[in-house]
Amino acid sequence: MTEDTNSCYYQVQDNEVEIFNFAKAHNLPVLIKGPTGCGKTRFVEYMAHNLGRELVTVSCHDDLTAADLLGRHLVSSDGTFWQDGPLTRAVRHGGICYLDEIIEARKDTTVVLHSLSDHRRELHLERTGEVIKAHKDFMLVVSYNPGYQNMMKGLKPSTRQRFVAMSFDYPSPENEANILVHEAGIKLELANTLVKLGADIRRLSDIDLKAAVSTRLLIYAAKMMSSGCHAQIACLHCIIEPLTDEPETIKALSKLVNAHF
Ligand code: ADP
Repeated sequence: MTEDTNSCYYQVQDNEVEIFNFAKAHNLPVLIKGPTGCGKTRFVEYMAHNLGRELVTVSCHDDLTAADLLGRHLVSSDGTFWQDGPLTRAVRHGGICYLDEIIEARKDTTVVLHSLSDHRRELHLERTGEVIKAHKDFMLVVSYNPGYQNMMKGLKPSTRQRFVAMSFDYPSPENEANILVHEAGIKLELANTLVKLGADIRRLSDIDLKAAVSTRLLIYAAKMMSSGCHAQIACLHCIIEPLTDEPETIKALSKLVNAHF
């Protein structure tokens, strides 16, 4: 099934729209797990668009502090004043706050989410002493990639057990081909070939790849081809080089590309 709106195209994979809507109906926060570039962010954008809610996205990283989410005191010529961070703004005024790659954030940062993501739905601003009850249209969505390089980091059970969780994976071949056609404007036949190449690369377990090829990378290759770039060149620079630094692996993947194009 495809759901297409004018400004946010999303190829539905399974029952994720229903699950999200059920969670939303009860103000439950949502956790989305899945490899990078498989459609997590696009899904959240699509849901925000459908629900008519503002979306605030924060890409988490290991320097992200609680203040980056909550806000901080700033100094002006009139003295100091408090400025809400992106999470606080969404909690106050409503909207979906999406914390992308939450696993990258420091553990003390994720703890501020606890009172917000359980029945209390309130945010504690220690710096100002304020406790904010979440707006009725506030929703918290977080995502992470549970790939092997993240196994050690994990999310604390006390954090993850506050969320309705769902796993995403790369789209089915048919869906992925439709996505390539839509996003890059290529012919279905070419999209199918790229999807088959992607599936073959994802099946390779005996070579050292940090991550499997994402739908995002297949779209890059498709876009370059759509504007006349030779298939082998597009695949080398949009698929192989982003995946690995190893000369041997580059050679092996190039052979695979040549078998398809
Ligand atoms: P993630 O957040 O999982 O890293 P994204 O949502 O940014 O990945 O997906 C990368 C790109 O792949 C998107 O910009 C979009 O073009 C495309 N994409 C992936 N899955 C879908 C889908 N189901 N429907 C439409 N586009 C998709």
